[in-house]
Amino acid sequence: KRAAALASSRGPGRTADGHAVQLLVNLGSQADLAAAAAVDSEGVGLFRTEFLFLDRETAPTVDEQVEAYGQVFAAFTGRKVVVRTLDAGADKPLAFVDHGEEPNPALGVRGIRLARTEAGAALLDGQLTAIAAAAQRHSADVWVMAPMVATPGEAAAFADRCRAHGILTAGTMIEVPAAALRASRVLEGCDFASLGTNDLGQYTLAADRMNGSLAELLDPWQPALLDLVSLAAEAGREAEKPVGVCGEAASDPLLACVLVGLGVTSLSMAPTAVAAVRAELSTRTLSDCAGMAAEALHAEDAAQARRLVAAY
Ligand code: PEP
Ligand code: MG
Repeated sequence: KRAAALASSRGPGRTADGHAVQLLVNLGSQADLAAAAAVDSEGVGLFRTEFLFLDRETAPTVDEQVEAYGQVFAAFTGRKVVVRTLDAGADKPLAFVDHGEEPNPALGVRGIRLARTEAGAALLDGQLTAIAAAAQRHSADVWVMAPMVATPGEAAAFADRCRAHGILTAGTMIEVPAAALRASRVLEGCDFASLGTNDLGQYTLAADRMNGSLAELLDPWQPALLDLVSLAAEAGREAEKPVGVCGEAASDPLLACVLVGLGVTSLSMAPTAVAAVRAELSTRTLSDCAGMAAEALHAEDAAQARRLVAAY
């Protein structure tokens, strides 16, 4: 059944009983653009913009950015593109910003926190100006979201800033446990949320994602991580606002079904994973997915969650 589903895997994501789940791709460089655009997906769920800012002596100009974003919007004409604003700082330092010394970089001034400084705020405003201009030039369906939001106040301030630039769909990445715990309030101030399960796992389990010896704690099947996904998805359902997943968890076909069962509305993944995720989803009803999610939440640990769901 699965092989047949894979062979005929195309079109929008749906469960066997027709529940729609947007399947999107993650994009992190210009070099990957053509291959990502060629994949049968509904758009980009996570456009990581760091590549434009890292490994250079000066900030990219607004014009340079308009050009770069425009290339992505043009390649995805008619499809949605979710742009994530710069997630620099800490372990991804910028040569043209004074980051100071940080004893715990993962807990430091990274992501949206960079905008607390004057230089960081100017970078963000330049980026939003460029995204808005490129979106207008290409009549693109552009959504913009901020990384490393921790509080509802940060989420609302970011959305206001986007709107001031003429960007109408502004959201929040949920990758800090505090944001997941308060997802209802986070969603009050913005239009959508996207769960970054890589960082959400790191911060929930207090396990450095760069430390390979902690792989089992960083396993995206960790029930504690799924608890937070569940909270955020439930908040989205109540607010009637989209809550997706854009971390690596979405690339695992069985875990993707679990995420759908928890209530997420879109899955963004490595382009190579889309066909297998679509195929797996097409063999399960929404109520199957809910059953798989319940199994995973009841597990003692990640390994058991994986086993229980595989046997479902
Ligand atoms: C995440 O944290 O899950 C995420 C999607 O962002 P990144 O991997 O770029 O930190
Ligand atoms: Mg992240």
